Amino acid sequence: MRGADTLALVPAAARYRCTSCGNLTRFDVTATRRTRAYHHYTVGGALSVEDEQVLDEVVESVECRWCGAAGQVEVLDGAVEPDAGA
Ligand SMILES: [Zn+2]
Repeated sequence: MRGADTLALVPAAARYRCTSCGNLTRFDVTATRRTRAYHHYTVGGALSVEDEQVLDEVVESVECRWCGAAGQVEVLDGAVEPDAGA
């Protein structure tokens, strides 16, 4: 048993858009993640982290990389269609 029944579904990565400058690709995202991972040590003590699973993630803030806190960032639903005239 691996306790997989406690594994929350990891939400698909959100897409964002800064309505101040139109930026779609550069954001500073502050998030809290709860993860489970396989820590594999060598006999010498060197660590490699493998099979990391995100059990829970809370996005605390998203700031436009260019506008900073002054930017107005919105979460996009679904596919991004830049300049589609929607
Ligand atoms: Zn911006």
